[in-house]
Amino acid sequence: MSRIFSGIQPSGDLHIGNYLGAVANWVRMQEGRDATYFCVVDLHALTGTYEPADLRRRRHEMAVSLLAAGLDPERCTLFFQSAVPQHTELAWIFNTVTPLGELERQTQYKDKSARLESVLTGVLTYPVLQAADILLYHATRVPVGEDQVQHLELSREIARRWNARFAAELPYFGEPQPLLTPVRRLMGLDGQAKMSKSLGNTIGLLESREQIWEKLRPAMTDPARQRKTDRGTPEICNIYAMHRAFSPEPVRQEVAANCRSAAWGCIECKQVLAASMEEVLVPIRRRAAEIGARPTYVTDVLADGALRARTTAQETMRQVYERMGLTD
Ligand code: ATP
Ligand code: MG
Repeated sequence: MSRIFSGIQPSGDLHIGNYLGAVANWVRMQEGRDATYFCVVDLHALTGTYEPADLRRRRHEMAVSLLAAGLDPERCTLFFQSAVPQHTELAWIFNTVTPLGELERQTQYKDKSARLESVLTGVLTYPVLQAADILLYHATRVPVGEDQVQHLELSREIARRWNARFAAELPYFGEPQPLLTPVRRLMGLDGQAKMSKSLGNTIGLLESREQIWEKLRPAMTDPARQRKTDRGTPEICNIYAMHRAFSPEPVRQEVAANCRSAAWGCIECKQVLAASMEEVLVPIRRRAAEIGARPTYVTDVLADGALRARTTAQETMRQVYERMGLTD
């Protein structure tokens, strides 16, 4: 049976990069509560600096945002990672078959550790917990952005190593494959790095039209376009990348033509983008307001999701412990 798993950290507000790169696929791929698992990976979020009160609020807000984006609790299992202790249990098991060198060469580790004065072990072992998240549910397909493809390759390696050691005759863990959207990797508003919750270069999925415009107006465009009369190159412009995701084809063509001929300045192009974004974001904002008005609904959905996730996770751990000599 094909199984889907993916997760998102409550390390900040759900942004349009998360949505276009991953969550839009989650919404499309909901195949039923036993086949589709989505997780707010709060244990992963502990690897950054945070205040407990903020984390408590962000977990809840992330769940609201995901439901507003279109996750349907009748067609998927949505839960908090920390509510299913088997994630950390399996992560420890996987630590015992994962070579240190594989972790040290992960790009995300290298990027994040370069920005830190003191690197916590959790930043290094992050992909081991991620492998546990995925393999606990025997997920075969993992809808993620491009930055997670390398981690998934490591998940497959961990599955192979564990199988080779403990399930050589009949592999127990399958090999999860990434599933990408056409957007894959949206750059941040600074045009310097991937749009990331932790870098403050985002447009939040639930931000108002006014808030979005405040951010779009000064956002980085084609760097070669210094003056309004300079001709632009849409292919290298981050704003055009957003048009690709939000604007319908005829609008995109108009935008590209007016950029190339310098008929429009970047501000006009951004105004058109803001209007296209509204088409997508208005219904999401409306759902968020409806859900936000029912806080017990969100708590109930997450509690119910955790219950179902635990049932699957317990069975996986039973099988794992049996094969590893940890049962009588
Ligand atoms: P953080 O900065 O805390 O790592 P993040 O914005 O990178 O936050 P994650 O929770 O790490 O978000 O990732 C959630 C999902 O969103 C993953 O599947 C990831 O690949 C995807 N994703 C994150 N940023 C982008 C982006 N800029 N473009 C496309 N997909 C993205
Ligand atoms: Mg990230």
